[in-house]
Amino acid sequence: MVIVLFGKPGAGKGTQAPRLAEALGVPILATGDVLRAAVRAGTPLGLEAKSAMDRGALVPDAVILGIVKEALASEQFARGAVLDGVVRTVPQAEGLERVLGELGRAVGAVLAFEIDDEEIVRRISGRLVDDRTGAPYTGYPPGTPSPDGSGGTLVRRKDDEPEAVRTRLAVYRAQTLPVLDWYRARGANVRTVDAVGSVEEVTARALSSVELTGRP
Ligand code: AMP
Repeated sequence: MVIVLFGKPGAGKGTQAPRLAEALGVPILATGDVLRAAVRAGTPLGLEAKSAMDRGALVPDAVILGIVKEALASEQFARGAVLDGVVRTVPQAEGLERVLGELGRAVGAVLAFEIDDEEIVRRISGRLVDDRTGAPYTGYPPGTPSPDGSGGTLVRRKDDEPEAVRTRLAVYRAQTLPVLDWYRARGANVRTVDAVGSVEEVTARALSSVELTGRP
């Protein structure tokens, strides 16, 4: 089953993705993670994506669809995927539909995480990452050595700075929110999930909406 996790930046998609992926027995495709790894490794993809990412702007659709196509056609994703952070524009939704169609598959469900902007800003301001591994942490001051012993330091993602967060929320409203209407207009299986609550509560809500959809 292919599940699209949809929602504002900071809605908890990245927290829920591994939990849902494990429960459903499919791997995660998180375009933000793929891009951040490329930036850290200094690959051509990373060099192309970095400035848009730092500003909180979107990376071009063609770049994203290249990542998605390569991943979904690979053996690793043969049983399905939890898509985290993609799709973010209508052209990406159209492209995903084409890629899946070529593979004889389709989106099984779109889980739309609902949360208001104030809660987003609160969550993001407490979010740090290990500058070596990219692993997320909350509840530590910036500059703390990474608790996982990687030798890295906990820092704020550039795109988690307040200015970039404002940009990301504006981008979400202008370019990403219309994706939900696009899916609804096509009769896709869109389920809204209240994203406020404990991590466990939100996982349970998300899973119960996926179960309602059945498993192709
Ligand atoms: P995320 O970790 O999903 O918040 O993604 C971090 C950043 O990577 C975004 O702010 C964008 O700059 C870029 N990015 C990730 N996924 C996409 C996507 N599907 N479309 C465009 N840009 C993306």
